[in-house]
Amino acid sequence: MEVYEGLAIAQGIAVGKIRYHQMPERLGYPHAISDVRQELARYQNAKKQAVAELTALAEEAAAKGDMQEAALCKRQTALLEGAGFSRAIESLVGTEKVNVSYALVTTRDELAATFSSLEDEVVTARIRDVRAVTERLTYILDGLSRERYRLKEPVIIAAENMSPSDVIELDKSKVLGFLTQGGSSLSHTSILVKAINVPSLICVSVQQQWEGRLCIVDGYAGKIYLDPDAALLVEYQKRQREEQKEQAYLRSLKDEEDITADGHRVRLYANIGDLEDLDSALENGAGGIGLLRSEFQYLGRENYPGEKELFQTYKKVTQKMGDKLVVIRTLDIGSEKREDYMGLSVESNPAMGNRGIRFCLERKEMFKEQLRAIYHASAYGNLAVMYPMITSVEEIREIQELVREVKEELRAQKIPYQDIQQGIVVETPAAVMMAGELAREVDFLSMGTNDLTQYTLAMDRQNPHLKDRYREHHPAILKMVDIVIRESHREGCWAGICGELAADTVLTGEFLRMGVDMLSVVPSCILPVRKEIRETVIGEGLVPGP
Ligand code: PEP
Ligand code: MG
Repeated sequence: MEVYEGLAIAQGIAVGKIRYHQMPERLGYPHAISDVRQELARYQNAKKQAVAELTALAEEAAAKGDMQEAALCKRQTALLEGAGFSRAIESLVGTEKVNVSYALVTTRDELAATFSSLEDEVVTARIRDVRAVTERLTYILDGLSRERYRLKEPVIIAAENMSPSDVIELDKSKVLGFLTQGGSSLSHTSILVKAINVPSLICVSVQQQWEGRLCIVDGYAGKIYLDPDAALLVEYQKRQREEQKEQAYLRSLKDEEDITADGHRVRLYANIGDLEDLDSALENGAGGIGLLRSEFQYLGRENYPGEKELFQTYKKVTQKMGDKLVVIRTLDIGSEKREDYMGLSVESNPAMGNRGIRFCLERKEMFKEQLRAIYHASAYGNLAVMYPMITSVEEIREIQELVREVKEELRAQKIPYQDIQQGIVVETPAAVMMAGELAREVDFLSMGTNDLTQYTLAMDRQNPHLKDRYREHHPAILKMVDIVIRESHREGCWAGICGELAADTVLTGEFLRMGVDMLSVVPSCILPVRKEIRETVIGEGLVPGP
């Protein structure tokens, strides 16, 4: 038996076999080859497989009526089958005697650099095709086809690193637990992993040889046991049964109200990152959606979603939630959430770069499409909108001007909408210091403690090396929460927390005594937080809300 330690980001116990999940990080690195003919044959085989995959995808898309997607797959097939692309790859492999994946990545980058200054739409689309085809071929060449996401049996996923899209693509019903070497508790990958509600550890020295071995994950103690002995297995199986009993008790709270033991009502909402999370929010008895991270419709694709597509999604969410409030956070792109088509420049400090509202106010037409979709969808339920990364009153006024224009446009088109509540994500120290002034401009303030912590402590939330210094319960953050609640109430606004801290049951009582009006947490944390709320006595000294 071998024992390893890590940092638990989601609690629980899992027992199962390890599935080592390979990341395509080695792709594109050059190495000399001795047999050019053999390397070219590898390329031809990969090309054949890529054409077969694309043909199947085109047929699948056409059958679903998605003719745009079908045309895209056909264009990429033509690129692969055309002489120009292959000639460039084959000539590089032949003359420089390098591996195909290096030739692919080099050709892609040279093409992109040559045409980067052209703003022609056809050329831009062509470059995107080259990127997509290169990615498909390199995955095939390294044996990393999409098959790796299909799990045949329930397993514990172990990986050196995982990207947010890796988590999205996995069949979550078959994931018993997650172990990763890299990562940090507040990275977006970790936030997605927590939503799955299985025990998960980061900072584990994962090894490829673990593939197929039996493992116990202890998401309470932050330990894993490889090839556990019989006695330990029996002990953990017993703990798993006790855990199941606790889960059953928590499930019994699904339809209970969020009221403290001494009768104070609080709103307990869910954070969702896509439509799958919405089902989980409902299954766990969410009182509303306190944070819809709207980025999911903008990531993993090649151009901006149109207003219609956004509207359909928002309408679906708000209709599904009935009269419960749904707070849509406008696009918080930038930092590690980016796609080529957005044209974001390389930044030396992206967390402090062109992200969130800054990015949107720079691309007003794109931003207005999202606002129009939100206001249009507001006619179908109980929606609210909030804006990320705000630092000043001027930004809010600039947004309000756009909102006015959007409403006018909708009126002119006779599209119904409601005057929905508007809020701010308080996630910069500047917004905390200006909480009173900002509160005067809007209806609510919702604290994004993930970013607020990184900007206040000046510690990158993604950096695993800082994990021992990164104090989520830092008194500076708790003081800030208190200030924001007081300032909001003074100005007649309600105040919530939508960062991960809202799910920390150690702090629930403290937040309630500060007078917080709403806690918004990943769906899997709703019931544990509800239990804590119902057991809390607030007593005297509560800051009265609006
Ligand atoms: C936050 O920063 O706390 C937050 C809720 O937003 P995100 O985690 O998406 O940055
Ligand atoms: Mg944030």
